[in-house]
Amino acid sequence: MKFAITSKGDSKSNTLMHKMRTYLLDFNLEYDEDQPDIVVSVGGDGTLLYAFHRYKNRLDKTAFVGVHTGHLGFYADWTPDEIEKLVIALAKTPFQIVEYPLLESIVRYQHGGRETRYLALNESTVKSVEGTLVMDVEIRGQHFETFRGDGLCMSTPSGSTAYNKALGGAIIHPAIDALQLAEMASINNRVFRTVGSPLILPAHHTCMLKPVNNVDFQITVDHLTLLHKDVKSIQYRVADEKIRFARFRPFPFWKRVHDSFISN
Ligand code: NAD
Repeated sequence: MKFAITSKGDSKSNTLMHKMRTYLLDFNLEYDEDQPDIVVSVGGDGTLLYAFHRYKNRLDKTAFVGVHTGHLGFYADWTPDEIEKLVIALAKTPFQIVEYPLLESIVRYQHGGRETRYLALNESTVKSVEGTLVMDVEIRGQHFETFRGDGLCMSTPSGSTAYNKALGGAIIHPAIDALQLAEMASINNRVFRTVGSPLILPAHHTCMLKPVNNVDFQITVDHLTLLHKDVKSIQYRVADEKIRFARFRPFPFWKRVHDSFISN
């Protein structure tokens, strides 16, 4: 089996990365940074997001596992003092795979047929570069509302505990193939109206955002922020691809939610 390790880059994560690499090589696993079967991310959720984007072109061939060197992460759920256990499990046992849904976003532009496709593990957000964001929101080709406000956030189920949660969105179990659209400070009065609640869309529904006035936007995809000019539309749907996590022990989603947000 071929492995790669990504580190957050701080000294604690780097030390742990080197230790794991030595252990795994001792177990005769092969280090392959370009075509790994398994990617170990050492740091936090942000490090796993980075690893996901680095290996997003081979998601069907790569499984991920996360070690956290700070607080308990949603994706990074192994502790540094468990790494010997993790190394033995990696080297000796066939691991289970758990798949989580991803978000596909396609940005199309005013001129020409050019488009950009992104995959997100957590979410994609859209904000105006200047002033209020005004967007027509279409669901399955039907006009749903004209949104006015700070921004919109489309998240995956595993991303529902991240930015989406801060926006008052629901936490969705990642076994459900769905996306969630949450509002950021919508303008609601007698003139302007939005639904005001987060929407949960099933896998076969497409959501399209179409600019009403301004056509330049700040679009985020997980930790990445990009400026898009002359945007014609932004299309969201559940991606065909999934992320695969290697599971060596049970750590149910609701327990992670409990341990992260209630107590542990
Ligand atoms: P960061 O360093 O600002 O950390 C963001 C925090 O979000 C970290 O504590 C991380 O552990 C946590 N996080 C990331 N993914 C999570 C998930 N799926 N469930 C629960 N918590 C999660 O930024 P980063 O580490 O580069 O992560 C980027 C993420 O930050 C974005 O994808 C977005 O979800 C999140 N974010 C949140 C807010 C907010 O809550 N108001 C604002 C901006 C970005």
